[in-house]
Amino acid sequence: MMSERKVTAVDPTEMERQRVIMQRIKENNDIDYQRSGNNKSFHIITFGCQQNNADSERLKGMLMHMGYEETDNRNTADVIIINTCCVRENAELKLFGNIGALKNLKKDRPDMVIAVCGCMMEQEHAVEAIKKKYRHVDLVFGTHNLYKFPELLERSMNEKYTLIDIMNTDGIIVEDIPIKRDEKHKAWITIMYGCNNFCSYCIVPYVRGRERSRKPEDVVKEIEALAADGCKEVTLLGQNVNSYGKDLDNPVDFADLIRLVNNIDGIERIRFMTSHPKDISDKLITAMKDCRKVCEQLHLPFQAGSNKILKAMNRKYTKEEYLEKIQKVKAVMPDISLSTDVIVGFPGETDEDFEETLEIIREVEFDQAFMFIYSKRKGTPASEMDLQVNEDQKHKNFDKLVKLQNEVSKKLNDLYLGKIVEILVDGVSKKDSSKYTGRTRTGKVVNFSGEGDLTGKLVNVKITEIHSWFLNGEMSTNN
Ligand code: SF4
Repeated sequence: MMSERKVTAVDPTEMERQRVIMQRIKENNDIDYQRSGNNKSFHIITFGCQQNNADSERLKGMLMHMGYEETDNRNTADVIIINTCCVRENAELKLFGNIGALKNLKKDRPDMVIAVCGCMMEQEHAVEAIKKKYRHVDLVFGTHNLYKFPELLERSMNEKYTLIDIMNTDGIIVEDIPIKRDEKHKAWITIMYGCNNFCSYCIVPYVRGRERSRKPEDVVKEIEALAADGCKEVTLLGQNVNSYGKDLDNPVDFADLIRLVNNIDGIERIRFMTSHPKDISDKLITAMKDCRKVCEQLHLPFQAGSNKILKAMNRKYTKEEYLEKIQKVKAVMPDISLSTDVIVGFPGETDEDFEETLEIIREVEFDQAFMFIYSKRKGTPASEMDLQVNEDQKHKNFDKLVKLQNEVSKKLNDLYLGKIVEILVDGVSKKDSSKYTGRTRTGKVVNFSGEGDLTGKLVNVKITEIHSWFLNGEMSTNN
C-alpha cells in the first residue's frame, strides 16, 4: 500500500505558465495547418467514474486551446489519451489491451503522441508495467498533475523515451483550467477532490489523495458563468460531498454551498453525488427541502446490511443509523427517489449477513441500485482479509439481489403511469431518432415525441408506458 502523502499548495502562477505553453503549441499547430490544410486532432478514451469524465473534459479543454480538434477516429488522431480507472474489475486487463492495440499505429505514425493518465497511474505497479512492456507510450501522468498536461505534452514530443511524471503530493487545487463540456444544458462541477474515509475495499483515497475542497466563491463563479451560457442543471461532484468544506479556512459546509448554488439565476436543477451516510447531516436534509432547485434524488450507498460487514468495510455507520437517515430524508421529501450501491460477497459475509442486505432493499425501496460482486483490489486492506467468499456463493446471492431490486424498481416505476412530469431534454434518443430523451427531476429517463428543437429545454411530459430502465411519454398540453 502506498504511504500517506504530504499536502502542499500549488503556486498560483502555475496555470499562467501552462497557458503560455498552450499558446506556444497552438502557434505551432497553426503553422502546421497553413502548411497542410489539416487541423491536428485528439482522441480520448475515458474509463471509470464521473470524476474521470470531468478530468477528460479538462484535457479536452486544454487540447482545444492548443488548436487540436476532437476526433472519433483513433487511427488518424495526433494525440491519443487513455484516462484510466483502477476501481472497476479487470481494469488493468482492459487498459493493457487498449495500449497494446496502439502499438502498430505508433509504428506507422511515430510523430503521434500516446498518453496514459488517471488514477491507475497513481499505482506504482501499473506504471512499472508500462515502462517495461509498452514502450510505445510517450507520456504517463497521474491525477494530481493534470493541470501540467500542456507542459508534459510539449516535453514528451521532444523525448525519445516514455516521459513519466507522477506527482507525489495531493494538496492541489488549480482553478481556471480550460474545460470543454460535453453538453451545454447540464454540467458536472467538481466541488472537492479526494477522500479521507479509507473504506477497506476501496483504492480511491490512495490514488486520489485526501479531501480538499474548492473555495465556494470559485464554485459559484464557475456555475454563474455556465448559467449565463444556458446551463440549467448542475451536478456537484466529489467522492464524499457531505464533508465538503471541512478543510476550508472560512467555514462553509455542503448545506451552505447548495443554498448558494440555489440562488444562481438560470440554474433550474441541482443534483449531487456521492454522499456518505455518516456525513449526511440534519442541516443538509433541511437545506435539500428548502432549496427549490435541489432535485428529489439522493444517491446514498449503504454497501451492506450487516453491522459486522459494515465494520469490516470501515464504513463508520450501522444499519440502524443508515435507516434512520433514510427515514429523515423521506419525512421531509416524500417524493424523493433513492439510489444506492451494494457489494455482495465481502470477505466474511455469511448467508445471514446477506439476508440483512436484502432486508434493507425491501425496507428502503430504492429506485435504483448499483450492485457489485466483491473482488479484490490490490493495495486495499480487504484484499488481505481471510474468509473470502467463494465465487459460486457470491454469484448466487448477486442474482437474488438483482431479482429483488428489479421487482422494487418496477413497482416504483409503475407509480409514474399517467403522471405529468418535468423533463430536462437531453436531445434526440440514440435508440430511436424519432424521439427526444431526457430526465425527470428524480432522474428517470423518459422518451417522448416532440416538435421543434427541444434540446436543453424543460418540458412537461405525460407518462404513457413503463419499461424497466426508461419510461415513454407524450408532450403534455400543459406546456
Ligand atoms: S467513501 Fe469509501 S468507497 Fe467512497 S471513495 Fe471514499 S474510501 Fe472509497
